[in-house]
Amino acid sequence: MTTPVYENFINGHFLKNQTGDTFAVKNPATDEVIYHVEIADEFIQNAAIESAKQGFAAWSAMTPIERSRILLKAVAILRERNDELAKVEVLDTGKPWQEAECVDVETGADVIEYFAGLAPAQVGQQQMVGNDFYYTRKEPLGICAGIGAWNYPLQIACWKSGPALAAGNAVIFKPSEETPLGAIKLAEIFIEAGVPAGVFNVVQGAAEVGQWLTANPNIEKVSFTGEVGTGKKVMASAAGSLKDVTMELGGKSPLLVFDDADVSQAVSAAMLGNFYTQGEICTNCTRIYVHKNVYQQFIDELKTRTEQNIIAGDPMDPEVNLGALISKKHQELVLSYIDKGIQEGATLLTGGKALSPASAPSGYFVEPTVFVDCKDDMTIVKEEIFGPVMSVLVFDDEDDVIQRANDTHLGLAAGVFTKDIQRAHRVIHQLQAGICWINSYGNSPAEMPVGGYKQSGIGRENGIETLDHYTQTKSIYVGMSNIESPF
Ligand code: NAD
Repeated sequence: MTTPVYENFINGHFLKNQTGDTFAVKNPATDEVIYHVEIADEFIQNAAIESAKQGFAAWSAMTPIERSRILLKAVAILRERNDELAKVEVLDTGKPWQEAECVDVETGADVIEYFAGLAPAQVGQQQMVGNDFYYTRKEPLGICAGIGAWNYPLQIACWKSGPALAAGNAVIFKPSEETPLGAIKLAEIFIEAGVPAGVFNVVQGAAEVGQWLTANPNIEKVSFTGEVGTGKKVMASAAGSLKDVTMELGGKSPLLVFDDADVSQAVSAAMLGNFYTQGEICTNCTRIYVHKNVYQQFIDELKTRTEQNIIAGDPMDPEVNLGALISKKHQELVLSYIDKGIQEGATLLTGGKALSPASAPSGYFVEPTVFVDCKDDMTIVKEEIFGPVMSVLVFDDEDDVIQRANDTHLGLAAGVFTKDIQRAHRVIHQLQAGICWINSYGNSPAEMPVGGYKQSGIGRENGIETLDHYTQTKSIYVGMSNIESPF
């Protein structure tokens, strides 16, 4: 059977490349090639820039209300097509249908809706300075590039295009080469909604295409989601033309469970924050620090629920709640971290092996894995694994656990479980992380800014401030009296 070949999406339509080079995309749950995608060669790259220039001219000339109205149409189409788009995400990523069906499209649509609503309310300022005055305009940046990771492909495309387009910019988006279809679907939806051709373009390929985007002097900003190491390369390359950057990078986030916490709730949070999307979530609480007084209770319940309640298998089966990892290579990497954990002396509470479920025997599954007897300096406690692997550690002193939680170059997220409201806020205020939860974990509504401290990121996505990151301020001084000149 022949599989479809998708071209790059430029200037409102699919455009064939000249080299004929393509790459294959596999379904992680079956190990089968499901389609091919043409790589953005030089012809496509040049066309993308020309297209975005024209798109920017048309789009930035429209009023914010006009742009908002069109984006809201795109939001409605996204919601109407929820199931079709969710299926694309399941086949590309291997994540469970039961997640994609209610999260991926929904949270992407929410963010576009949020920024479509905000854009017409964005205002400049004016101020008298003596008899003269100045005023400011919030102007779009121009052409912005988005580069996405593979864990939430459509959602990432929406989170980057929502504020960029609402503010009047044009976008060239490069999805991950593992999951390229969601962004194409979004491009088609924008056109159907009435977004002018050229405003949202999709270029396809791996690192080389990303490098071209980050180095291109016609592009004013890069918003990147991916690994810390790649983020550093992106930022260094963007510096060549002094591009603005937003960096949404990796994490190794702590969850602190105090002895007055509702332990069952804390176990729920720990499981969500390690096993949802088979552990491939940047904000995951992969270091769980549990107070010694509730440690045994915590790990007993965690073991029971992990062994009894997790169903791995064909991700399209609505009962399945643990999907396949993105690739064979990534599965091997996650398993190698598990081996390292054992070698370095951690104890497996549960899991630890590759899985071959009957309904998806060739998929890249890994058992939900929990390590106990972990020490702060173990590799599994220090490095982002990006799979269903949790490390549990014990503490008995508040100040000490805060210091241990902060002892990392990463700072994406953190959480605290306690019923003592003063302790909850006191502790959270000391944790060095950009996204924090109290008696909750993982929620990320469109209204709430998200982004990392330390090497987990620069800038924010979502929330009001993000709109500012897609505009630049022009100051205009107005003289109201004669100029006093010595010349
Ligand atoms: P990755 O860094 O390997 O790739 C991300 C993107 O960058 C891909 O599109 C890739 O093609 C592109 N790329 C690779 N090399 C490049 C280069 N030199 N120049 C420009 N682009 C380049 O990341 P990944 O494996 O796709 O995603 C997993 C990582 O993403 C994890 O570390 C995870 O924590 C992080 N992540 C962060 C967030 C967040 O919001 N903070 C969200 C999701 C994922």
